[in-house]
Amino acid sequence: MDYEITIIGGGPAGLSAAIYSARSLVKVALLEKGLCGGQAATTDLIENYPGFPEGISGMELMDMFLKQAERFGAEIITSAEVKSIKESDGGFILDLGERKITSSAVIYCAGRSSLKLDVKGEEEFFGRGVSYCATCDGALFRNKDVAVVGGGDSAIEEALFLTRFADSVTIIHRRDELRATKILQKRAFENPKISFELGAVLEEISGERFVESVKVKQLKSNLLKNINVNGVFIYIGYKPNSELLINMVELDDKGYIIADSNCSTSQSGIYAAGDIRKSDLKQVVTSVSDGAVAAISALKYLEILKGK
Ligand code: NAP
Repeated sequence: MDYEITIIGGGPAGLSAAIYSARSLVKVALLEKGLCGGQAATTDLIENYPGFPEGISGMELMDMFLKQAERFGAEIITSAEVKSIKESDGGFILDLGERKITSSAVIYCAGRSSLKLDVKGEEEFFGRGVSYCATCDGALFRNKDVAVVGGGDSAIEEALFLTRFADSVTIIHRRDELRATKILQKRAFENPKISFELGAVLEEISGERFVESVKVKQLKSNLLKNINVNGVFIYIGYKPNSELLINMVELDDKGYIIADSNCSTSQSGIYAAGDIRKSDLKQVVTSVSDGAVAAISALKYLEILKGK
């Protein structure tokens, strides 16, 4: 085998799994299709990760995780997208397109991708006003007006972040009540730059070359109105990136991997950690915990394979 443990995904779960497995002196590769850090790296300020009383930028925190994994000898391979995983000869073959990697165990930490609203203009104006990442694109909207769609923690947290740049932020949410935690709600309600379109849905995004307005429908009255905005940030949740394992491990009806408290999946030798795993709480701290648990489980599995 090329590696004893191969980790797929370089977010908090994957990097934590890399730290724990590499520190146990086994041959570890971490494959990341883009750059390491995952969604956490696109979070402006992480306030609830213990050890940083003032909060820390997601990018900075993930950079520290990465350095720690490298220090223990994990081989971090970026721009490496796994196309398929097959079981073979007491291990797994991971197809990366231009080459194949063999590994005795796999820790799958591929996380989730942003859900699309599926409205007119969303695809057309992506990168020209439509964004799924306020931390990446927020600064482009200095002194402009923007809309945020969604009512969860991500939407409210990012709406607050956008108030640093934008003149106004309109939160469009389909229910009358926000889903976000109360502390975020309080901050948003108290922020003079933020206004709300509650019980409303975004129906269309329009403009010439760039976004100029959105059409919003009030659900109770069916009243339509146009709001002039230059940017639309969509935060309506995520879908799990579990396609590679569809016929290999047990998934729930939404596509999250069902794994036990040891992060073991229904396929021996494959472990799941972080946002991809069916769980109630999705946080950096829970992903980090999963990564450690999955690594220790994978190490025990290697011992069994070696007949120890
Ligand atoms: P989420 O909690 O699933 O919220 C998604 C929001 O989008 C909900 O308000 C939902 O409305 C709305 N929505 C879903 N589909 C929609 C559609 N088709 N059209 C319009 N609106 C739609 O997702 P999230 O905010 O990204 O958070 C994901 C997880 O990460 C959560 O567990 C969250 O707590 C966690 N997170 C935590 C923090 C933090 O602790 N600081 C920060 C970010 C995220 P309804 O409310 O009506 O369902």
